[in-house]
Amino acid sequence: MRQDRRVDQVAPDLYRLTSGGFAAPHLIMGDVPTLIDAGAPGRGPAIERELQAAGIRVGRIVLTHGDPDHVGGSDHLRAVTGAEVCAGVAERPFIDRSGWPTLPLRRRLLLRGFFRGTPGPTIDRWLDGSEILEGLEVVPMPGHTPGHLAFDWKGWILAGDAFVSGGRFRESLGLFMLDRPTARRSIERLLARAPRGASSSHGLPADHATERLQALVDTWR
Ligand SMILES: [Zn+2]
Repeated sequence: MRQDRRVDQVAPDLYRLTSGGFAAPHLIMGDVPTLIDAGAPGRGPAIERELQAAGIRVGRIVLTHGDPDHVGGSDHLRAVTGAEVCAGVAERPFIDRSGWPTLPLRRRLLLRGFFRGTPGPTIDRWLDGSEILEGLEVVPMPGHTPGHLAFDWKGWILAGDAFVSGGRFRESLGLFMLDRPTARRSIERLLARAPRGASSSHGLPADHATERLQALVDTWR
């Protein structure tokens, strides 16, 4: 499928990029233009071009988690924009890789294969999950990975891999899921926020997020 170099608007000041590879980065045009996730390894220059074409220079990059399809372009974009890169402190062992030996072998091999020897991203600021970054609220959603973060922009949830958005919300695939019970509890907590909409890395944006999350929770309750 052809990838248009076009930034799609999801909600006011919230955009979804098309240049990230498997996992769609999102862009918040608040006081500090903020990129949520940085695409697959090697996608940095494509994301840079997409932002440039739209006349946008990001000041901050926040990473939902350390999986390669979310952090691959981070160092490149940090270098060309000077943006501050942030990630969850609970994700640190998976970003600096000190925690890789504790992962199931299949997951470890997958990570090694995807990263192909490239180093983990440089992080300027570790988030404990309680922050509000110029209106962008950090929402800890552990489960998919231990330090996975989602973000709440005026009632719209940028979910990363905490779940898959779309007409019907789904759980992330088992192969890529480290702790399903914890991931389900995170989704149940998110429901209490009564979000208006949600957009995830591997699923399309959808409104009526509270109703769709409730339907997802009903599948295991
Ligand atoms: Zn992931």
